Amino acid sequence: MTQAFDVVIVGAGMVGAALAAGLGRSGFRVGLVDQGGAPSFNASQAPDIRVSALSAGSERYLTELGAWHDILAMRATPYTRLAVWDEADHPLSGVLPRKIAEVVFDARNLSASHLGHIVENRVTQQALWTCAEEQPGVTLFAGHAVTSLGNNEHNATVTLDDGTELSGELVVGADGASSGVRSLAGIGVTREQYQQQAMVISVRYQGAVQDITWQGFYPSGPRAFLPLHSAGHGESWASLVWYDSPEELARLKSLDDSILMAEIQNAFPPELPLLTHIDTKASFPIARQHAKTYVNNRVVLVGDAAHTINPLAGQGVNLGFQDARCLQSVLREARRAGSDLADPARLAEYEHQRRPANRRMMLAMDVFYHLFSNRTPPLHLLRNLGLGAAKAMPFARNRVAKYAMGIDDKLPPVIRQLAERLPGLKQL
Ligand SMILES: Cc1cc2nc3c(=O)[nH]c(=O)nc-3n(C[C@H](O)[C@H](O)[C@H](O)COP(=O)(O)OP(=O)(O)OC[C@H]3O[C@@H](n4cnc5c(N)ncnc54)[C@H](O)[C@@H]3O)c2cc1C
Repeated sequence: MTQAFDVVIVGAGMVGAALAAGLGRSGFRVGLVDQGGAPSFNASQAPDIRVSALSAGSERYLTELGAWHDILAMRATPYTRLAVWDEADHPLSGVLPRKIAEVVFDARNLSASHLGHIVENRVTQQALWTCAEEQPGVTLFAGHAVTSLGNNEHNATVTLDDGTELSGELVVGADGASSGVRSLAGIGVTREQYQQQAMVISVRYQGAVQDITWQGFYPSGPRAFLPLHSAGHGESWASLVWYDSPEELARLKSLDDSILMAEIQNAFPPELPLLTHIDTKASFPIARQHAKTYVNNRVVLVGDAAHTINPLAGQGVNLGFQDARCLQSVLREARRAGSDLADPARLAEYEHQRRPANRRMMLAMDVFYHLFSNRTPPLHLLRNLGLGAAKAMPFARNRVAKYAMGIDDKLPPVIRQLAERLPGLKQL
């Protein structure tokens, strides 16, 4: 038997669940499918290994959806400062002090109470599942994978692994970077696998919860500190991210915790507080990937299904939330005008709004990636001059901060100029 909806969303990760909650609040009938079970949270749990820096823009969107209050009631750590600096040796080390390449973004300079929050993915996802389930029009199919897709001018259907068929005017692929919906719809991607991988390490450190998130850049990749909640007994949790070659990360992962902890303490910038425990660690391959189109007939892509970017400035899910918000508003307009939800002109409007914005963020991340991962002196010099210039001009620095925080969608000129000089980015 086929169950009919206005929209079927495949994937109830953070982005798919947000879209379902938003469409449900606007009165749409939504079928929301995820192959995983409901996310769970209890206050005594150690933090999820997957955490995200949620921007002020994402906070506003999650507030509109009614999820932010629940997120704060579970766990979220605000940060008021964000620092980025260079730890590499280079021919000009003796001339240029380390601090010239340091940029510190401070909420106080932006008249904001904070720059963002570090939130465990499972907390965000759980709050959004609750919001989606509260909407009478949303039906959740948890624990079921989509195995096939029908997509033509007249209808769109998905079949679940138990044979259930769901139909909608529109099917949304929110099923992540390896999206099955995207391949079933015949949508290709452009992709670049970075040479680095990211190892995420959940740790406890001595001292109160810090209000700063930072990233030090080494020739082999950045090393970052993201503060989490208090662990009690004078300790706090944090998430560390160590970017390096797959071989080096495999070596580090094989070490005993006490030896790894000593290696981290030596290898990270001196700003790292004294570690007391390692809880969990996992490594992730990182790739820049962009779907060649976001739309095919009655299928549309959002979030990581449409684009993945280098996670070094933590913008992936923030972009995904902007996709969801934009698609929501396009579909509301279509409904108000009485048109088909898969009206090509309206879906083209969604892609027209989101593709350039996602591409701009990809470019910005790649500029950082290429400039900070390259040992050659000209790039090094350029890098220092770029950040030095940004620091020298509070206006430019604030523009960078606002872009990174998701409250200004204009790429700062210094980054845009550098982006245009990098090879391999034009085909995005
Ligand atoms: C190391 C690392 C650090 C990161 N840090 C940040 C950060 O600080 N800030 C930030 O904004 N982003 C960050 N990101 C990126 C962020 O995690 C992703 O952008 C985000 O999780 C994408 O959300 P999504 O909902 O689009 O996809 P996913 O989270 O991948 O969700 C996809 C969902 O689809 C379901 N699914 C898949 N296939 C099927 C199927 N066939 N049938 C049914 N269901 C299916 C899955 O179960 C899953 O629930 C980071 C990424 C990495 C790797």
